[in-house]
Amino acid sequence: MPVSEFDIIKQYFDRQHPQREGISLGIGDDAALIKSHAGQTLAISIDTLNEGIHFPVNTSAEDIAYKALVVNLSDMAAMGATPVWFTLALSLPEPSTNWLEAFANSLFEIADKYNVTLVGGDTTRGPLSITIQIAGQLNNEQAMLRSGAHVGDQIYVTGTLGDAALALALKNQDASNSNETTYLFSRLNRPIPRVEIGQAINSIASACIDISDGLFADLGHILKLSNVGAQVKLYQLPLSTQAQTLLLKHTELYDTVIKGGDDYELCFCIPKDKQAQLETLSSNFECNITHIGEITDSKELQCLDESGNLVSDFIQGFDHFVKQQ
Ligand code: ADP
Ligand code: MG
Repeated sequence: MPVSEFDIIKQYFDRQHPQREGISLGIGDDAALIKSHAGQTLAISIDTLNEGIHFPVNTSAEDIAYKALVVNLSDMAAMGATPVWFTLALSLPEPSTNWLEAFANSLFEIADKYNVTLVGGDTTRGPLSITIQIAGQLNNEQAMLRSGAHVGDQIYVTGTLGDAALALALKNQDASNSNETTYLFSRLNRPIPRVEIGQAINSIASACIDISDGLFADLGHILKLSNVGAQVKLYQLPLSTQAQTLLLKHTELYDTVIKGGDDYELCFCIPKDKQAQLETLSSNFECNITHIGEITDSKELQCLDESGNLVSDFIQGFDHFVKQQ
């Protein structure tokens, strides 16, 4: 009996080996890499958002459209690809003109911003569900894979971690109307796809993933596919000031920073001899990048506190960190 999404994929769908010619990378990464007859490689990815599962019931049409496209743009960012075309499959319970108008305006606002064109799709009646498939082009046929990390590589993340998961965790609490939670909800509903950063680091990063399921789960994918381990410095993890403020009151939620998903930041590995190049590049980035640890040969994901001790209790580790701010 398959238990997880990944077991289902492995057991039932990842079974066409060998694959057709021209498939440089199939199932298992943020996107597949497909070589055309002309020799150019396309990155292709697809993501579905279901009401009540990927976004709360009553999320605005604008936010749904934004997020449906952005999570796909984020997969392009994780590969280092330039997104170019997308298709849209829309399942709607009740076609309302107001909803459709708002959805389409928001969709094309973000599509225009990232210069991606809608080239097709499918529209059906059913529970509210949005599927977007996206294609991106690669410079010099080069992409960042989950399988490329090597022992000694340095681990970085973009932006801040845990904001989106904290928003969801605090949704029904008394803090739900504070300025901090308003900010955290903007991070949940309007994540920023790090497309430019992905393209910029493509030639120097050894591995990359976008954080959709939480730092630990997603860095875990890099470690598994690269057959390596990592040491992560808990006290270096970047938290927004809003998250820090709320975590002081809700210490029970510290582990959402590493275990919570939906931030769509990038986690990537840089060989030591490329760190200086990253420093130079990062002055042009739209957000901070933070060095959080190192790839090791231990085959496990270890967390360190400020004294360099292994931390097994995440809550304790974070408590130590947040109180220092
Ligand atoms: P991401 O979080 O980047 O969207 P997923 O965790 O959804 O990636 O999927 C992991 C890998 O499995 C990806 O390469 C994805 O394309 C593939 N995959 C997911 N579902 C299926 C499916 N039903 N059939 C084939 N491949 C799948
Ligand atoms: Mg992804």
